Amino acid sequence: MIDDTALAFPKTERNRVKRMHERGSYDREAVFAILDAGMLCHVSYAIGGQPYCTPTLHWREGDMLYWHGSSASRMLRHLRGGTPACLTVSHLDGLVLARSGFNHSANYRSAMCFGTAGIVDDADEKARAIRGVVERFYPGRFDTLRPVNAQELKATTVIGMRIEDASAKVRAKGVGDDEEDYGHPAWAGVIPIRTVIEADQPCPRLLPGIARPDGLAAYRQGRGLDDALAETQRAYEAAPA
Ligand SMILES: Cc1cc2nc3c(=O)[nH]c(=O)nc-3n(C[C@H](O)[C@H](O)[C@H](O)COP(=O)(O)OP(=O)(O)OC[C@H]3O[C@@H](n4cnc5c(N)ncnc54)[C@H](O)[C@@H]3O)c2cc1C
Repeated sequence: MIDDTALAFPKTERNRVKRMHERGSYDREAVFAILDAGMLCHVSYAIGGQPYCTPTLHWREGDMLYWHGSSASRMLRHLRGGTPACLTVSHLDGLVLARSGFNHSANYRSAMCFGTAGIVDDADEKARAIRGVVERFYPGRFDTLRPVNAQELKATTVIGMRIEDASAKVRAKGVGDDEEDYGHPAWAGVIPIRTVIEADQPCPRLLPGIARPDGLAAYRQGRGLDDALAETQRAYEAAPA
């Protein structure tokens, strides 16, 4: 039984951070912050002993993670019966250059979530999810769009996975050289990395008078994408269902 009110995910043999365990956390808020700051995830699962790891887009509602794709996709067909899956999201925050090759590192935030992934068959849940994938990223946009038609609905498969256990792992610090290496005359330091929003490129076929909607305000030129996505997730959670 999953307790989705607990502050932390249960610590199991599957999600217990062993290497550099001081960087690990099982707090729901820590895991959610990493998931919500990204839209690109990797979902992995095995088919007949062969591991596959598929990059795709995810969104979250409480403890539920969703992703979607073409009904013809191998990944989605395989998940139909419900299968153990692992979804990860990672953010590269900095390149860490030490005075030895061994101590080079990276600053990052990553989350690993485990559960059983399955097709969302329930019509209401699927309709909510199809709205959710637009609204979660672009508040207020769904109702401004040409409505989804029956053929698009049929061609789209939504996958849901309740997070059973999860871990977050974060490195956010400077160079960690061996004490005797600090006297070595090589440059060392952190090169910070950010994914930044650039200027819009409006569609050349935009109808006259169509302005950029206010719901896209989070996506401002020069802003970090992770901040913008965290803001749109908060707006999604605050919006009436
Ligand atoms: C951008 C980036 C660069 C990295 N570079 C390196 C590198 O060069 N060398 C290196 O050894 N490691 C690196 N890591 C860390 C790497 O992801 C693993 O944590 C590490 O390799 C240990 O793997 P493991 O399977 O032995 O961990 P274990 O501690 O045995 O894994 C046990 C459990 O801990 C949790 N866990 C482990 N790693 C993560 C994670 N990253 N995020 C969330 N939960 C996790 C999972 O629940 C996992 O099932 C990097 C991570 C990122 C995001």
